Amino acid sequence: MSQPVELHGRLFHPFISAQQINERTSALARELDEAIGLETPIALGVLNGAILFHSDLIRAFTFDVEVAYLRTRSYSGMKSSGKVDIEWPDDLSVNGRHVILIEDIVDSGRTLVALTKELKERGAARITSIVLLDKPAARIVPYKPDFVGFEIPNAFVIGYGLDFDGLGRNLSSIYQVVEG
Ligand code: 5GP
Repeated sequence: MSQPVELHGRLFHPFISAQQINERTSALARELDEAIGLETPIALGVLNGAILFHSDLIRAFTFDVEVAYLRTRSYSGMKSSGKVDIEWPDDLSVNGRHVILIEDIVDSGRTLVALTKELKERGAARITSIVLLDKPAARIVPYKPDFVGFEIPNAFVIGYGLDFDGLGRNLSSIYQVVEG
């Protein structure tokens, strides 16, 4: 973790360690435990970025939970296209359900605003959003997640599920781009 990593010729510095992620994830799971009512929620992970956060978080829950995933796309390289595509799975119904929406990072806010709208249109009874990373300075559309792991500055990050053009998702820690 103390060494920088190079992906596609760009350098990334160590930023948040695997241990920090692990401790924060456990703390978030405990906070969620208290926020959950009697109903069994659906832990809905947003692919691909939230894979590791989702899998670590659900294993730290002490309540019963159903697990589902959907895919969104808006990024190419280090730039957001501004348009959010949602691939809704055929077998996923959220009607009348409590959905815990689990996302890697909130940046412009567009993805979570689009997903919230979609979930409401599909009849979700309650939506609780949880993001590992929040970049409030990057917000273009207003959005406030219910639970946040770490607030971070507006710089591109990779690792722990987050990629740079397909690489870096398998790193256990999070790294921040070195500008220049
Ligand atoms: P938003 O719609 O809030 O702009 O962005 C959400 C999505 O953009 C995230 O799910 C993630 O895939 C991607 N994203 C935003 N910021 C970063 C970043 O710093 N690094 C990486 N790898 N992806 C990001």
